[in-house]
Amino acid sequence: MVIEPAGGLELKATIESLEHLTPTVLRLRLRPTEPFDYRAGQYVTLLRPDGLARSYSLASLPVDGTLELHVRRTERGQMSGWLFNQARENESVSIRGPAGNCFYTLGNPQQPFLLAGTGTGLAPLLGICRDALHQGHTGPISLYHGALRKAGLYCRAELNQLESAYPNFRYHPVVLENDEATDGIRSGTLDQAIAADLPKLAGWRGFICGDPSIVRRLRKKLFLAGMASRDIYADEFVEAPVR
Ligand SMILES: Cc1cc2nc3c(=O)[nH]c(=O)nc-3n(C[C@H](O)[C@H](O)[C@H](O)COP(=O)(O)OP(=O)(O)OC[C@H]3O[C@@H](n4cnc5c(N)ncnc54)[C@H](O)[C@@H]3O)c2cc1C
Repeated sequence: MVIEPAGGLELKATIESLEHLTPTVLRLRLRPTEPFDYRAGQYVTLLRPDGLARSYSLASLPVDGTLELHVRRTERGQMSGWLFNQARENESVSIRGPAGNCFYTLGNPQQPFLLAGTGTGLAPLLGICRDALHQGHTGPISLYHGALRKAGLYCRAELNQLESAYPNFRYHPVVLENDEATDGIRSGTLDQAIAADLPKLAGWRGFICGDPSIVRRLRKKLFLAGMASRDIYADEFVEAPVR
């Protein structure tokens, strides 16, 4: 499947910081050189100085000032390899966008929300839940983050903090490996955890992001549990064709 770079404006940005959240997840903060309007959870196309383009979701809110992206290390990946190994602070890149309809909308502040994703699928989910909470959403918001192992569950402190600050927010970390289920972390698949907690999802809104096969599987499960398809928002992190 060919992914066209996100449409919209193209502008220059500076790499503000590169921070390894785990050995395989990098937090990249970019400072656009001019005002950039977007909604948390949308994605931008990042362009390397030589023009290589890849899409990344926005974990930040416009009020944060910088754009926050979470990049997974992909074996032999051109953009992720460059970001992990060569890119430096203060370097210039370009961004195009924003694009995508996975974001919080006003108008139904009591609707229950389910957010689910694995790996860096957390980036847009973090943006969407922070946006909803900041905008005064009162309905329950349950965020399920899955990883193979505990080490892959990044941003745990930030999510635990959100849980303490907002009584309507719940963070559910899930790992596939049985023996790593400690400290409130469950084992199993994301859909097993969701089905056990929320067997009926009529009236809920769902946001699912990350690995395409997991997103497709979850979409089906949420629909079968009663969630209306118009209430399911998804972003599949399809890998761009190798250039
Ligand atoms: C809407 C959207 C949002 C996204 N959001 C995020 C996000 O928030 N975070 C995130 O981490 N990713 C996200 N992605 C995925 C991201 O856009 C990239 O696809 C990903 O980072 C890999 O890019 P890359 O250049 O590092 O890898 P590529 O160079 O594109 O490599 C892709 C695959 O091809 C293989 N490959 C590369 N070179 C060769 C070769 N010579 N021979 C054989 N195989 C090869 C690699 O091993 C890899 O598996 C998103 C994608 C979409 C479509």
